Amino acid sequence: MRILLTNDDGINAPGFAVLEKIAAQLSDDVWVCAPAEEKSGAGHSLTLNEPVRLRRHGERRYSVTGTPTDSVMLALRTILQDKKPDLILSGVNRGANLGDDITYSGTVSAAMEGALAGIRSIALSQVLNRDSDHAAFDAAEQWGEKVLRPLLGTPFPERTLVNVNFPPLAADRINGIRIVRQGFHDYSRGSVVEGRDPRGLKYYWFGLHAIEHTLDHGTDLEAMADGHVAVTPLQLDLTHEASLAALAERYE
Ligand code: MN
Repeated sequence: MRILLTNDDGINAPGFAVLEKIAAQLSDDVWVCAPAEEKSGAGHSLTLNEPVRLRRHGERRYSVTGTPTDSVMLALRTILQDKKPDLILSGVNRGANLGDDITYSGTVSAAMEGALAGIRSIALSQVLNRDSDHAAFDAAEQWGEKVLRPLLGTPFPERTLVNVNFPPLAADRINGIRIVRQGFHDYSRGSVVEGRDPRGLKYYWFGLHAIEHTLDHGTDLEAMADGHVAVTPLQLDLTHEASLAALAERYE
């Protein structure tokens, strides 16, 4: 089994080393193509207005001066053009990719790019808790293989991927694995901080406050709150089926 690894925190991120350890438990044919710098929040962006460079760090190890999507696209169209991977793993992200946050996620988007190319793709994220005393990626490192094995024996329908989140707990305190749907956040509270830079110019900073979680039953957010690893199948087709007929009526 050939595996391609990528992420959005950059090739030198601690979570990427954890992903490499997990992948080594699954195969000895592991390839790396990840952003050279951190690209968290890049979503599914593709670099269009500047050149993208591919740097070789080893026989199967490359970095890209671009986004997670650039990395997957370049890997599939250059390095692995004639030897496509059977599996793409993206992560292990430093922080959650839960609920409707996933559309911002470079980690999940890299897996979306893999799914678009028809390759089994899985995103992995380690939820963090600033006050915890265990190693940050302990849960992902100890539970990664256990979560991935069953996913490798399951057919993924076309244009789908799987999003995995590990709770912010020591590995031995995790209660199990749950297959859950995507939850949603309450974005009604603002999370933009305004300040002045040393030159006196105003700036804004996003994402500094924790967002309120809506813990509906059977969601990824609820699974985190209950100390479970959350496994969520996602689809690329974002069509809201129920609205098709209602909208069509408006144009009759
Ligand atoms: Mn990230």
